[in-house]
Amino acid sequence: MKITNIETFVLSNKLQESFFFSQWEYSERRICIVKITTDEGVVGWGEGYGPADVIKAGITFIAPILIGENPIENETLWFTMYRKTLDFARRGILAASISAIDVALWDLKGKILNLPVSVLMGGQHRKQVVPYATGLYFSESDDLIRKLTAEAKNYVHQGFKAIKMKVGLSVKKDVAMVKAVRKAIGSDIQLMVDSNHAYSLLEATELSRLIEPYNISWFEEPVSPEFYHHYNSLRNKTSIPIAGGECEYLRYGFQQLLKSESVDILQVDICGAGGLTEAKRIATLASTYGVPIIPHVWGTGIAFHAALHFISNLEPTPGRLDPPDFLIEYDRTENNLRESLTQPSIYMKDGYISIPQTPGLGIEVNETVIQEYATEILMK
Ligand code: CA
Repeated sequence: MKITNIETFVLSNKLQESFFFSQWEYSERRICIVKITTDEGVVGWGEGYGPADVIKAGITFIAPILIGENPIENETLWFTMYRKTLDFARRGILAASISAIDVALWDLKGKILNLPVSVLMGGQHRKQVVPYATGLYFSESDDLIRKLTAEAKNYVHQGFKAIKMKVGLSVKKDVAMVKAVRKAIGSDIQLMVDSNHAYSLLEATELSRLIEPYNISWFEEPVSPEFYHHYNSLRNKTSIPIAGGECEYLRYGFQQLLKSESVDILQVDICGAGGLTEAKRIATLASTYGVPIIPHVWGTGIAFHAALHFISNLEPTPGRLDPPDFLIEYDRTENNLRESLTQPSIYMKDGYISIPQTPGLGIEVNETVIQEYATEILMK
């Protein structure tokens, strides 16, 4: 079996209502996906995390070396892609381009061998995971706190057991928002905060101290991802667990994050950090430091399903008779692509989402939706 075709699509969904986080405004969801086809007509799908048009350019650069190769040998193909890009980009977008191709190769391999990706990765330690709602972004609302508390209550009503909110406006405003959201959701729901590296060490320390009374499960990206030593300092100044890693790439980048004892929770993005192949190696590395992984997930059902299989395969360390539930990030902001591109739909029941048991990633991609959202006119 040989790879005969690699196609990339940049999809765009202009949002009805912009939302904001500490760094900038989101008015569009723009995502690069990749389709790999074999000489026997089997198809695999992948997705890259980051600027879609640049990821597409990266895939166009890498793709020729894969044509004619056997998709079953995906780890040797991973190394060829890595070697092809190493001299120009040891981190960043080319890693996301590799990630998109790698996820598509796992999907393809699963379909060829008739196995779910998580089984192919070595096995399913769990058959279901607990989604946490990512939302509670900033908006231009006159009464932001009222809007946030209504949104948070809605997540509880939908059955979510854990919710992540944005912080990073200012320490004072953040404390008021966190206090109001905690009051709205009650004490039984897990609450996390994410500043998207908005703060200096001093500000992050102050915010941590002021929100400790609200039982925060983790503080995500409190400071710049460049300042490992600040991450480490903050960990020693607060009882709130510190999370990060969505801006990190490949096992070498994660080694730096782990070695510096920067985080309590590692947030690898499978579609950015090097694909499922590299994410599994990062998980092995993290296990030697005793640091748990809760992946960063953003984008379409392709990225979400890659994360479902990855989490199913994560070792439950430390082992025990009644292991805890594992979390998956479930973005709830406006994104028609997440809802419509893949089938079956993502479905939460009693606060859990099941791991797919069908071959590959366990999804079908609707190519009519690609036609609808593609930024370029596609040939039928
Ligand atoms: Ca984040």
